[in-house]
Order: sequence, then C-alpha cells, then structure tokens
Amino acid sequence: MRKSVVAIVGKPNVGKSTIFNRLVGERIAIVEDVPGVTRDRIYAEAEWLNTTFNLIDTGGIEIGDEPLMVQMRTQAEIAIEESDVIIFMIDGKEGVTAADEEVTRMLFKSSKPVVLAVNKMDNPEMRDRIYEFYSLGFGEPYPISGSHGLGLGDLLDEVVKHFPERDIEEDDEDTIHFSLIGRPNVGKSSLVNSILGEERVIVSEVAGTTRDAIDTSFEKDNQDFVIIDTAGMRKRGKVYEKTEKYSVLRALKAIERSDVVLAVLDADTGIIEQDKRIAGYAHEAGKAVIIVVNKWDTVEKDDKTMKEFEDKVRQDFQFLDYAPVVFLSALTKKRMHTLLPRIIQASENHAKRVQTNLLNEVIMDSLALNPTPSIKGRKLKILYATQVAVKPPTFVVFVNDPELMHFTFKRFLENRIREAFGFEGTPIKIYARQRK
Ligand code: GDP
Ligand code: GDP
Repeated sequence: MRKSVVAIVGKPNVGKSTIFNRLVGERIAIVEDVPGVTRDRIYAEAEWLNTTFNLIDTGGIEIGDEPLMVQMRTQAEIAIEESDVIIFMIDGKEGVTAADEEVTRMLFKSSKPVVLAVNKMDNPEMRDRIYEFYSLGFGEPYPISGSHGLGLGDLLDEVVKHFPERDIEEDDEDTIHFSLIGRPNVGKSSLVNSILGEERVIVSEVAGTTRDAIDTSFEKDNQDFVIIDTAGMRKRGKVYEKTEKYSVLRALKAIERSDVVLAVLDADTGIIEQDKRIAGYAHEAGKAVIIVVNKWDTVEKDDKTMKEFEDKVRQDFQFLDYAPVVFLSALTKKRMHTLLPRIIQASENHAKRVQTNLLNEVIMDSLALNPTPSIKGRKLKILYATQVAVKPPTFVVFVNDPELMHFTFKRFLENRIREAFGFEGTPIKIYARQRK
C-alpha cells in the first residue's frame, strides 16, 4: 500500500533537518553499512501512532546558486507536487519574514493540507508569541522545539489527520511492480517503450496514484505487471527536474513502491560513480534488483566482451552480488526477451518462503562441514533458524550469543542458504538473536 508523504518546507535554518533527523534518525541509523553507498538524507520513512509515512526535507534540494526566493519557491513547488501533507516551518524567534509570506501565497494556491510548525519555541514563556502566527491563515500554529524535541506529538497528530483515505482495494498480490532507475540518458524511457511495444504485451490501462503519475500496467503470458514512473521517464520541462536531488527523490519514491528494480547502465558510456549511488538505493530498500546493461548494440564485441563487462559490473557493484546482469538493447530490441523472465524470477525469489525444517537441515549440514567460529575462547552455538519475513526474505538465527556471529559467518550462512534455495535477484537478511 502506498504510504502518505509529508514534506517539510521553510527557510534555511528554521530547523527542518533537525526535525527530519528527529523523526527518521533512528531508522536511518539501523540501515546496514554498505561500502560505496552514500546515503541521502532528504527522503526517509518515519512513524507516528502506528502509521508509517515518508518524509521529505525539501531544504536538501538545492537549485544551483539561485537566490533564496527562487530556492524556496522551487522547494515549495516540489512539496506541493510530491506530498500529501505539508509541514510549513517558521522560525519562532525570528517571526514571519518576506520569504515566509511568499511561500504562504504558494501554499494557499495549492489545495494541499498545510500544518504550520513554529520552531525554536524552546521554553514555555516563548509560547505566548504563538498568536502572531495565526495571521498567516493556516489555522492553529503548532509550537515546537526541534532541539528539545518538544511539541512534536501534537504536530504529528495534526499531520496524520490529513492523510488521504487509501483505497482498500489494492492491486492483485500477483501483480509485479517494477521500476527503472538510472542516470539520465541510459535509456530508461526507451526500455519502457520497448517492453510495452513488444508483441503479445497487452497494455490494459494507464493508472496513476497521483494526479500525473504515469504508472502503466500490462499483461504478458497471463502475468500482470505495473511499471512505476520515475523522473527520467517523464520530462515535462520543470527546472528542478534536472537537479540530481530531485531525481533521487523520484527514484526513491518509485523504488519504495516496487517489488523489482531495474538498475539501468549504459554500455556505451560505461559505469560511473553516479550509477553505483543510484543502484545502492534499491539495495538499501531491500528490493529485488536486476542490473540491466542497455545499449549493448553500441559495443564492438568478441566472445569475451560480455564476460569482461560482467566482471567489471561485479567489481563495481559488489553489494549487488545477488543481482543478475542482463545485456540488451532497447534500440535494436536484441535480447529484450530475456528481461521479463528475469523480472518474474526475481520477484518470485523476493517473495519466497522456505520451510523451517528444510532451512534447519541446510544450516546444520553446513555446520558439519564448517564448524562455527570461536571468539576469545567462546564458541558460537546455533540452535535453530526460521524465516520471519518475505520481501526481502528475512531469517532469524537463534544463537547462544549474537556477538559471536560475525559478518563473515553471516556471509557464509547466506551463501549456503542461497545455494540451497536459490534466491537469485533478491537480497536476503539474516539476524542473530539470543536464546539460552
Ligand atoms: P534547516 O536549514 O531548516 O534544515 O535548519 P537546521 O535543522 O539545520 O537548523 C538550523 C539551526 O537551528 C541549527 O543550528 C539548529 O541547531 C538550530 N535549531 C534547530 N531547531 C532548534 C530549536 O528548536 N531551538 C533552537 N534554539 N535552535 C534550533
Ligand atoms: P532516459 O533518460 O534514461 O529515459 O533515456 P532515453 O530512453 O531518453 O534514451 C537516451 C538516448 O539513448 C536516446 O537518444 C535513445 O535513443 C538512446 N538509446 C536508448 N536505448 C538505446 C540502445 O539500446 N542503443 C542505442 N544505441 N541507443 C539507445
């Protein structure tokens, strides 16, 4: 189910990122460390009263060296476009400024619900000043203090009230949702056209969750698919669409709604740093991933070329060692037919459940070959394991002391589980828990 999206807008230094970090900080901290992946702190999941939603810090989206007013206008535009509810943040110490009034006008013109947060109200005496903010016309202003963590509960109670009702009727469980991510010009839209243009694909409708999303659903050989819109695929000429942070934001939103993510590379230009960063988002989100090397027609080949390119991909994308690599050309359509079967396979593996008894057999057999390690004279003991979740498959291993289960041993278990059950295309997670 699609989560509601909340955007924070406001001038620089009002405290947007302080609040953002407070609301999502812990969650970001538990994301495992992946070498070569830089994290983006403008979009993340937050939770309030058992409702999870996604939060955007629009302050993190900078548009070149434009003046303050242009930056703020753009950020407000993105908030209006990308979110369901907007938190408009003002510096309570400073009061209402001209820039705040400009944003106020823009927000009024949109029909999005706005909750006014007056930050830096660090002590009760300051709360008397709250009345001057009624004049902005957003109803009750919520006094908060980001640095002291005050008032956030009341603010979020109000925010949550404005979440749109979701359709109970959701897509069929069997429908595979996928998206294509990659830097501009790698060929994402060409690939979509090529997939949809293929014979025997029936495009049944164009349905969107928001006003102008362009999710496309189609059917092939009795399997339903939905391609989820990303920034690179809809080019409407807004200035901010060219900024990297905005494309990242769109990619993150698309990834979140996908089962399978196609990380598209350009064989013509080769792999650059930005490709790794973008693919890293899919990995972090725990989605099934396929690495698609597009424009394979542009490469002069002999019998070793593909292997060499794949080796290079493997080296650059070590964190995606589970992802299959497919080589194709959206232009000539060569090898395009290899794509959908891979998507289906990755999606099935992403949702796969293995039986507890088989899982334990595999683990115990591998322990017979490779005894558990000891650390400072203490030996790791594995009692049993069970799969606790799918999408991605997640396993809990009960042990005598989780501290004794090191990364390398986890890696060993992961490899054994993969060999036994075949989880190609999907990340799997393994956690150690204590059981005496
Ligand atoms: P942003 O530019 O809107 O993201 O603002 P930041 O979150 O970076 O905060 C700007 C400055 O305001 C930092 O020095 C924060 O420590 C400070 N700040 C944030 N929240 C509060 C608050 O509630 N009270 C006070 N006194 N300072 C705050
Ligand atoms: P996007 O920005 O990722 O959506 O990329 P586009 O689909 O707009 O493609 C960018 C450019 O690459 C266009 O000029 C396409 O015609 C070209 N292109 C896309 N796929 C291929 C391919 O497989 N081979 C070749 N030679 N060119 C391609």
